[in-house]
Amino acid sequence: MTTAKTDTSVVVIGAGQAGLSVSYYLQRLGLDAGNEFVVLDRGPSTGGAWQFRWEALRIGSAHRINDLPGLDALGLSFETADHHAPAKDVVADYYRQYEDHYKFQVVRPADVTLVDNSGDDLKVTFMLDDEQKTVSTVTVVNATGTWGAPFVPWYPGLRSFAGRHVHTSEYSKAADFAGQSVVVVGGGTSAIGFLLELENVASELMWVSRRPVDFLDDGELNLEARVEAVRLQDEAARAGRALPSIVKGTGVPRTRRVQAGIERGLLDAKKMFQSIEPTGVRWEDGTFQRVDAIIWSTGFRPELRHLAPLKLREPEGGVSVASGNAVRDPRVFFAGYGPQASTIGANRAGRMIARQVVATLSRFQAER
Ligand SMILES: Cc1cc2nc3c(=O)[nH]c(=O)nc-3n(C[C@H](O)[C@H](O)[C@H](O)COP(=O)(O)OP(=O)(O)OC[C@H]3O[C@@H](n4cnc5c(N)ncnc54)[C@H](O)[C@@H]3O)c2cc1C
Repeated sequence: MTTAKTDTSVVVIGAGQAGLSVSYYLQRLGLDAGNEFVVLDRGPSTGGAWQFRWEALRIGSAHRINDLPGLDALGLSFETADHHAPAKDVVADYYRQYEDHYKFQVVRPADVTLVDNSGDDLKVTFMLDDEQKTVSTVTVVNATGTWGAPFVPWYPGLRSFAGRHVHTSEYSKAADFAGQSVVVVGGGTSAIGFLLELENVASELMWVSRRPVDFLDDGELNLEARVEAVRLQDEAARAGRALPSIVKGTGVPRTRRVQAGIERGLLDAKKMFQSIEPTGVRWEDGTFQRVDAIIWSTGFRPELRHLAPLKLREPEGGVSVASGNAVRDPRVFFAGYGPQASTIGANRAGRMIARQVVATLSRFQAER
C-alpha cells in the first residue's frame, strides 16, 4: 500500500504503549512492518516512557498496566508479572519481547525533530546516531506521549531558587534527598508516592497542592470518575484546548497505604506557597520555610514540538483532534492523546487509528 512517490505509507512516531498498539493493528490489517509502516523511537531502549520511571515504582504500586494487544501470544501478562519488580524493568522487558515477536523493526534512537509538508506528502526528519535522515510518507501517527514535555507552573521567584528543582520526570530515588528539607508539589499519585517514600529519609517534608486533594473512598480508581476524566479530556481535545489535569477528573484512590499515610498526618496537603526565594518558600501568612529541594509532580503536556511546521495548533493552545486525526490535517493521527493517555486508552486507540489510517490510505490511493 505504499505510493510510488513515498518511502513508506505510515510513520509511527513513538514506540510506547500507543505506538506499539497502532503497529500491532496496522500489521493485522496487512501492512508490512519496516516497509509499509516505519516506527521511529527516540528512547535508547524499549519500554516507552516506562524505561525512565523511578526505581521504587513497582508493578504493584502503579495503576493497572494493561496488556498490549496480542501480548498473550507470547505467554506474557502484566497481571501475572512480579508485583514487587520495578515497573520500568518489567515493561521494558515485555515490550522488547513484543517488538521482537511481531518484528516491528523499531528504529532507535531516532529523534524526530520535524514533520513537514512535502507537496502532497509528509516529510519526517529525524536524528539517528548524530546523522540527520528523512523519510517521506503519506500519513503520520504521532504517539509521542507526554514524558518529554514536563510541566512546571510558574510561581514568583521560581528562577531565583538556589536549591534543586526536580520534576517527576527527573526523580530517581529517595536517597537523593537524604537529610534534606523537601517540598512536594502536586495533588496526584506521583506526589503521594514520593511523600510515602521520602517520609523517613528527608529531614523535613511538606506537601502542597493547588487544589484540595480529592481522596476517593475506593482503593481503586472509581469507574464513574474515570469516565468523567475521559470526557473532560475528550472535550478539550476536540475543541483544541490545552488538556486538563487527569487527577482533576479522577481523584486519588484511597489504598491501604494512602489511608495509613492520611491517618498519621503525612498526607495532609497545605495550600500552595506564595513565592519562592533563593533558600526556601514564603507561605501566604508571610512565614518563611527553608527548603533544599522542590519536587514538582505537576504533570506533563503532550509532546508536539516536532509537528510545529504543520501548524496544527488552534488559537486555544491545543490541537483539535476528533476521531483520531487532526482536524487541520487529516493525514496526521494522534495515538495516546488526551482521553487515550493510559495503557487501556492507548490500546483502544491503536485499533481505531489503524483502521482509520488504512481507510485514509485507500482514499488517497483512489484519488491519486
Ligand atoms: C508517572 C506516571 C505514571 C503512570 N502510570 C500509569 C499506570 O500505572 N497505568 C496506566 O495505564 N497509565 C499510566 N500512566 C499514563 C501513561 O502515560 C500511559 O500508561 C502510557 O504508558 C503512555 O503510553 P504512550 O505510548 O502514549 O507514551 P510513552 O510511553 O511516553 O511513549 C512515547 C514514546 O515516544 C517517544 N518519543 C517522544 N517524542 C519523540 C520524538 N520526537 N521522536 C521520536 N520518538 C519520540 C518516546 O521516546 C517514547 O518511547 C502514567 C503516566 C505517568 C507520567
